[in-house]
Amino acid sequence: MPPLPSPAPSPAASESGPLTRLLARPGAGDANADEPAGKPFAHLSYCVRCCIPQTQEGVVFDELGVCQACQSAEQKIHIDWTQRERALRKILDDAKARAGSNYDCIIPISGGKDSTFQLHVLTKVYGMKPLAVTFSHNWFSETGWYNLMNSLEQFDVDHIMFTPNRKLVNKLARHSLFGIGDACWHCHAGVGAFPLQVAVRFNIPLLIWGESIAESSGRASYLNPVRKFDREYFTKVSAKLRPDQMVRKAEEFGADWAVTEKDLEPFNVPSAEDCERVGVFGIHLGDYLFWDDERQTEFVRDNYGWRETQVEGSFKRYKSAECVMPGVHDLACYLKRGYGRATFHASVDVRAGLLSRDEAFELIREHDAVRPEGLDHYLKITGLSEAEFFAALEKQRRPELQGKVIPIYEKKAPNEERLLPYPQQLIEKMRAADAKAASPLASEASA
Ligand SMILES: [Zn+2]
Repeated sequence: MPPLPSPAPSPAASESGPLTRLLARPGAGDANADEPAGKPFAHLSYCVRCCIPQTQEGVVFDELGVCQACQSAEQKIHIDWTQRERALRKILDDAKARAGSNYDCIIPISGGKDSTFQLHVLTKVYGMKPLAVTFSHNWFSETGWYNLMNSLEQFDVDHIMFTPNRKLVNKLARHSLFGIGDACWHCHAGVGAFPLQVAVRFNIPLLIWGESIAESSGRASYLNPVRKFDREYFTKVSAKLRPDQMVRKAEEFGADWAVTEKDLEPFNVPSAEDCERVGVFGIHLGDYLFWDDERQTEFVRDNYGWRETQVEGSFKRYKSAECVMPGVHDLACYLKRGYGRATFHASVDVRAGLLSRDEAFELIREHDAVRPEGLDHYLKITGLSEAEFFAALEKQRRPELQGKVIPIYEKKAPNEERLLPYPQQLIEKMRAADAKAASPLASEASA
């Protein structure tokens, strides 16, 4: 492992030391075990209902201090879902009538539990013939790969997948950290662009996503579901930079890390004219059907063999299970904004009445600040040192956290599954079997 910023016994020990510290977590019998309960950062404001801090991007609190996502959760209870379902049926019937012998819609799928549930609803309940479309981040976990392949088998859907090459993914993972402050630009951009490209090329206007934006990001409201599709949406909310802004010249970054416009072509959304010609529009099923993550996870698990796995940075085992890198994404968020994935998931559970706010803060303390094992893989593929990774994120911290020490704790036990992209695991495994068969010891033993 590369050298770490010097661990200090307590964050107060030095005023001038590094602002990101890898610490030993105080044990039960430890004299330092009196970590304060409650909010991870006492000086930040948090939503008064859930655990979302003021540093969340785009967060809006009302005059009582309640965040938009909590307001949406309340709206969700009062919506006439029967009427919404009728509206959905109408959209789907119209799409079928228009499609003729073409596909009725596109379902962007990752193999996650949402996409499996979408496939169930659209094929089994509404009898749609979808084209399933996957932008592969090329970071599939073994469980994620199984879930994707299993869903194609279970629902008998045609499928198109685009996979950017390994070297490009590695380069973009490095530039993404400095460009947008997380490791995942290629995924944010590709997930937004590729289904639209397929829509245009195959002349399929309707795209159907899962969870409502009202719930997943708190950036919209159930009262105004997004229907008219905005082709720039993903750039605005997650990719942040357009493909042309990710070009990196060899003269500046060296030939090994150069990224050309040609490399980035697959990440471009189709032109407005093309989208208009096809009439591309998208809906989120969660704006039309009452969305319940926990129940849907149980449903796809019990009925279709969908599998959970340990996901770094969270106590939930079903979100982002398809990827080996969510821990790095969420650590970056924690280092910039003072909260990670556990804050988000615990807040969802508080809104659903599954956790008290105090219990939620306890879970957050346990998970948000843990150094993910995926970071080792990230540093390997990007050639960065751990100190460089931390320094890049210190520079991108929100003003409220500048100058503060942000603690990180070592992960207590190895991750349940190996955090190496599954295709690479498979290649390694087959080659190891070859090498074993070819070794003199093996042939002697069999002789
Ligand atoms: Zn809230």
